[in-house]
Order: sequence, then C-alpha cells, then structure tokens
Amino acid sequence: MRKISADIVYPIVGKPLPKGVITVDEQGVIQAIEADTPESRMGAQTYKGIIVPGFVNAHCHLELSHMKGKVATGTKLIPFISNVVKRRDEDPESVLPSIKQADEAMYENGIMAVGDISNCADTFEQKKISKLKYYTFVELFDFKQAEQTEFDNRKPIYEQHPETDTLKKSYVPHAPYSVSEQLFKQINEANTGEQRTVSIHNQETPDENELLEKGTGAFIDFVKGFGLSTDPFVATGRSAIHYALKNMDPAHRTLFVHNTMTTENDIIAAQRWGKHVYWVTCPNANLYIENRLPDYQAFLNQNAMMAIGTDSLTSNWQLSILEEMKTILQYQSYLSFETVLQWATLNGALALGFQKDLGSIEYGKAPGLNLLAMPDPTEDFDLRRCRVIRLV
Ligand SMILES: [Zn+2]
Repeated sequence: MRKISADIVYPIVGKPLPKGVITVDEQGVIQAIEADTPESRMGAQTYKGIIVPGFVNAHCHLELSHMKGKVATGTKLIPFISNVVKRRDEDPESVLPSIKQADEAMYENGIMAVGDISNCADTFEQKKISKLKYYTFVELFDFKQAEQTEFDNRKPIYEQHPETDTLKKSYVPHAPYSVSEQLFKQINEANTGEQRTVSIHNQETPDENELLEKGTGAFIDFVKGFGLSTDPFVATGRSAIHYALKNMDPAHRTLFVHNTMTTENDIIAAQRWGKHVYWVTCPNANLYIENRLPDYQAFLNQNAMMAIGTDSLTSNWQLSILEEMKTILQYQSYLSFETVLQWATLNGALALGFQKDLGSIEYGKAPGLNLLAMPDPTEDFDLRRCRVIRLV
C-alpha cells in the first residue's frame, strides 16, 4: 500500500480535495481517498503540485508515428492528406520502432487508454505488450465508389486484432466525405453483438461541408486526382454530419472527431439522433493542419460530452493530453481547468467504455495517478509551464 498526497487532488467525481490523501495498492487500485487529517496524512508521500487521474487519449493513429515532422504545418486538410498518402510508405524500417517509442511516450505522458485508428495491423504486436489499454478502430473508406473490396480487404486486419479486457475493437467509417452508403451498411452489420465505440472524422475543413451540401469544392478535384468517379458526390443540401447521422448506428457510443466546422445546430441534430454521442477535440492537430480550433462555446451550450485526442505524430509535435489541455485553455480561456480536465479523463474513459477502471479517482478503480508539477518545485503552480509526472 502507498499513501500519496499533493497540494490539491482532483478526483473528477466529487470536489477537489486540498491536500487530499489517496491510498493505492500494488496493482494501482484505489483503496481510499480522504480529506486532509492528522491520521490520513500519516505515512503519506507528499508532493508539490496537483494530482489528477490518468488521461485518456480518445483519438490517435499510432501507425503513423514514423511520420513525425515529415508533413508541413498550415497546408489545410486536403494537401495534408495527399502528403500523408504520398509519404506513409517511405522508410518502412522506422515504422515498428516509432510505434513502440510513441506507445511508451504516451505511458510516460500519463495516458492510460487510447482510441486508435488502424488501417493496417502494424501496431497490433506493440498493443499486445503495451501498458496502455487500446480501443482499436479498424477504419474503412471507399471514396463512395461502393466497391465490395474495401470491406473484404479490412476484414483480415480486424480479425488479427485480439479482443480482451484491455484491447477492444470495432469497424469504423473514415469520414462523411469518404464512405458510401453501402460501406456504412456493411460496417453497421459487422459491429453487431454488443455496444461498441465507433468513431468518424467529422467536419474538419470547410471543403467537407461544401462537398456534402453542394457537391462542389476542393474535394472534387482531390477525388479526380485518384482517377475515381465523382458521380456519387451529389449535393445533399445539409452539412456533412447529417450524412453520417443518416448512415451510422446510434446504439453504439459514437465519437465525432475534430468538429472544427461543427455548428450548434449540428450538435443539436447529433444529440437528438443518439444518446451516446461524444465529441473528440484534437486542438494541436487542428492548429497543425488547418490553423483553427472548434467553437467550444457551442459545445458547452449544448452540454456536449467532450473528450480529447492527440491525433497522430504526423499532425502533432507530441502525444500528450496535458499539452492538448494547455492549448485549449490558452486559446479559449473562458473554459475552466476543471471542465477541460474532465474531458481529458472521465469523458474519454466513458467514450471508450473503460470507465469501470479509468477516468476518476474512486474506490476500486485503477485510474493511474498523475502529478502535474512545476519543473522547479519552488515556483507557484502555472498550468502553461507544468509537466506531468506519472506516480502510479
Ligand atoms: Zn484522425
């Protein structure tokens, strides 16, 4: 048993505890969380800084870790995707070592679980030995060409991935602009049996809404560039998320990822559509690719369930949920630390279905414990400059 205390403990469920004391066993399971008293304090290791539960990274592409620094910032989404497609097969020897390094860095950065997109099986061996829990999203897209081959190609990848208490999986659609109605149907049929988590990239760029609404814009040339038919891209008169809602299954926990162009009306429509809707924000990736952030006020107005992702090292400088929190609080500083901390922990755990163990400091859970502390312990706490130290 270890007793741990710091200036403030944020259990997430319940109020912050000044000098709160946590008792944790060898397996990291919380045995007690107590207010500061002479008895509770006895034998506790006391730290300067604040203690929060382990973080959940609700959106990553671990398999793209070898492309760190290879794709330019600020190009907007379509040139970004073109560059990823062009360059992802360069330097194949670096793929597996980069995956291992990124997985270990996430652990060091205080992350406990990851929602991870997979287009291939490259990450599966590392996931089997990882200290993190993973929800792997085997991703499908056919650029609306409605060819059977896409599903048939991905099925063996899905089947290679184990399914255990710490490794979950589902089939997921890539984005509203890249998946045919037929492929959506195949995905829904394959995800039967239990409630799963399903994610989709959503409204990441103005071109995406234009394509779905009007059938025009830069995506048309992008599709032509691959020699594909543009016939399926017909105007629907509605923003991109409506096409996703029409074709996805509301029984699953559904993660809409990015949402930089999502309006309050879009949020209302999605929350009427399903009871298990989560909105995953990846602010540093949004700044990297499109140099813009979602309108978080619209999500607050609608009591939206927000979670936080890092996206991949192709569109980020690091895989750290703390760094994402710093960015959110720097650029939309009307948000409180407590609000964003809940996005980073409990909401992410709920989104991935890992809330039984993760997301809050509560008796019986094994959430991991992170100390947020200043590099120099004599300094006053400042979130912008603090770092994360993993205690449990
Ligand atoms: Zn992504």
